Order: sequence, then C-alpha cells, then structure tokens
Amino acid sequence: MNWLGDHEAAWQPGLAIGKYSRMFVTSNDRMIAVDTNGDPLLLDLDDAVVADYEPVLAGTLDDVNYYGVRGEIIGSLQYQPLRPILIQTRSAQFVPVSAAMQVLDFLHEHQFCGQCGRPTTPSRSDRGRTCESCQLTQYPRISPCVIVLVTRGDELLLARAPRFVDGMYSTLAGFVEAGESAEHACHREIFEEVGVEISTPIYQGSQSWPFKHSLMLGYHAEWRLGDIKIDGNEIIDAQWFKIDNLPKLPPRASISRGMIDAFISERFNSQER
Ligand SMILES: [Zn+2]
Repeated sequence: MNWLGDHEAAWQPGLAIGKYSRMFVTSNDRMIAVDTNGDPLLLDLDDAVVADYEPVLAGTLDDVNYYGVRGEIIGSLQYQPLRPILIQTRSAQFVPVSAAMQVLDFLHEHQFCGQCGRPTTPSRSDRGRTCESCQLTQYPRISPCVIVLVTRGDELLLARAPRFVDGMYSTLAGFVEAGESAEHACHREIFEEVGVEISTPIYQGSQSWPFKHSLMLGYHAEWRLGDIKIDGNEIIDAQWFKIDNLPKLPPRASISRGMIDAFISERFNSQER
C-alpha cells in the first residue's frame, strides 16, 4: 500500500552511489532554502554560495546523491519553515529532505559526548559519532511514535491539538515509552487522551517524520468501550465523525491522512458491493 508517498524502495540511506550530487540548504533554526516555485532548493555541491559549509550526506535516490548543509541564513537565498514545505513537496523529495534534516539535526546535537562531554568525531564504519576519550558511540536518534485511527462502524475518532491549523482534526498519536511495545502504546495513548478503550490495533504502515526524529507507526483499531473524555491540554476537542461528514483533515503527505483515506475508500467500496 503506497499511499504515504514515503515508501521509496529505491532510497539508499547513507550511500553516495548516484551519478549526480545535489544539496539542500538549511538554517540553524531548521528553515529550508526554497526555489521560486516554493520547492526545496537544490544546489550543486561546488556552488559558491555554500562554499563555507560542510555538506553532509543523506543518501541516494534515482542516481542523485543528496546532501544537506546547515548554518547561518544566507542573505541571497529564500528560506521557509520546514513543515509546510515538506508537507506539500513532491513525494520524490519527501524522503531526501526528511533524511537530510534528521542527519543534520543529529550532527548539530551530538557534537559532544553525552557521557563525558568531550568532542565527538564521525565513526569510520557507520553513521555514528564516537567519543575518542570514553569510546561512547551515538547514532542518529529515531523516536517511535504510534498514530492510531480509531473507528466505530462508519465513524472515525478524530481530535484537535492546540497546535493544529484552524479547524483541522487528526488521528491520535503519542510516543512509545521505554519498555513498552507499540501495541501497548496504542492502548495507553488512546485511553489517556480520549478515555476510550480499543480492540487489538492492526499495523498499517510507517512514515519517517522529522519533527523531530519521529518514526510514525500507523495502526487501525476498532472502538471497544467508553465515551470520549478529553483532558483539555494535549487534546482540546475530540469527536466521532461520520465518513460522509468529515472536518478539515491533515495534508495528503501525512500517514494520518493516508490511513483516513484508505479507511474511507474501503468503507465506500464495501457499501457498493
Ligand atoms: Zn565520552
């Protein structure tokens, strides 16, 4: 099921095996340079504009090696916040942009050892950074996060968080705690956020999501028990929505929307049969 735009089987993380090389330009506050169409700007590695910056390899897709640089804002370039750019970007660039941003975040946040505080250097054999002093190696951080579409017949349980754009409702999500399985996290998060119990969550697919270093694990679960009760902090509203009367939904590039669309088309198809 390739509805996420994030299942690029040809993507080679951490490898430069393409014929061509291109580079994204990002700023210290995670803005990304864009071209006149509003797409992520791609420069040649030897472009004079970024001569002072160190390119960091993200990986290869379709014969193009993608790199990223991060630094002070360059006055001659246009920058935009990452989230809206990534959400509307063509699917072919979703993975390279997301990967470059996460690798740059890792380098930025792991210049020093978390154990002894001395400077780290790139590991020779992999993507880690090693402390020569105490030998601790750290790797790009990936934080698993469950995102759950809860349904009850033809109804979807969707909620609003305070940070959402006006009127948008989405599926519920939360980080997996240490020692917890993803399925357990689904049961716990849904109960904590809306007071509802669910049946066994069924895995749908995953999506890398650089806000920050998240790996979204998508699940679908049927409602089992309980009425909606929200805490008013993390979630400011949650409702059951009929499939033919839905609110403003998340953008198409998101796994949340992918799961919602897949569920709706399945229900409509089953009604027509
Ligand atoms: Zn150390």
